[in-house]
Amino acid sequence: MANKKIIGLYPGSFDPVTNGHLDIAERAFKICDELHVAVVANPSKNSLFSIAERVELLKKTTKHLPKVVISSFNGLLVNYAKEIKANIIFRGLRAVSDFEFEFQMALINRSLHKDIEVVFLVPNEKFIFLSSSSIKEVARLGGDVSGFVPHEVQKALQKFK
Ligand code: ADP
Repeated sequence: MANKKIIGLYPGSFDPVTNGHLDIAERAFKICDELHVAVVANPSKNSLFSIAERVELLKKTTKHLPKVVISSFNGLLVNYAKEIKANIIFRGLRAVSDFEFEFQMALINRSLHKDIEVVFLVPNEKFIFLSSSSIKEVARLGGDVSGFVPHEVQKALQKFK
């Protein structure tokens, strides 16, 4: 059997991208022939950055990873996975608290698209506590987020102080 090309899809809100997200993207990248990092254009979430801004920040901060494609999509994740011919969906697991939601979503997605596998990756332990929402809160209150987000994101957050 010919070797199958591994096309990965790492979806998320990325509002904004953090060092935790990048850690997962770098691990996923090592496993794939081609990795798509895609911003979910979900209107039900209160976001700080627009979809275009989030895509731009992802592009700037993943420049060091060749064969990474940054995009955004509307609608069902599995439909987007089919569109780009992805065969793996990557998600990051920080703690047990992520597990229940992620487990449920993985089962739903697999029932909607039987040829896709959901793979969970665990970040470096120094990013376990990191979330976009906590970063936004710290930045809003004037705290130093330089250890948690790339420089480009730190700069972008300054306008919200
Ligand atoms: P969503 O709204 O889809 O959860 P996020 O942008 O918050 O989008 O996260 C996208 C993915 O990245 C999720 O799988 C999430 O668990 C994972 N993730 C977020 N922050 C981290 C982190 N610090 N370490 C590991 N995975 C993370």
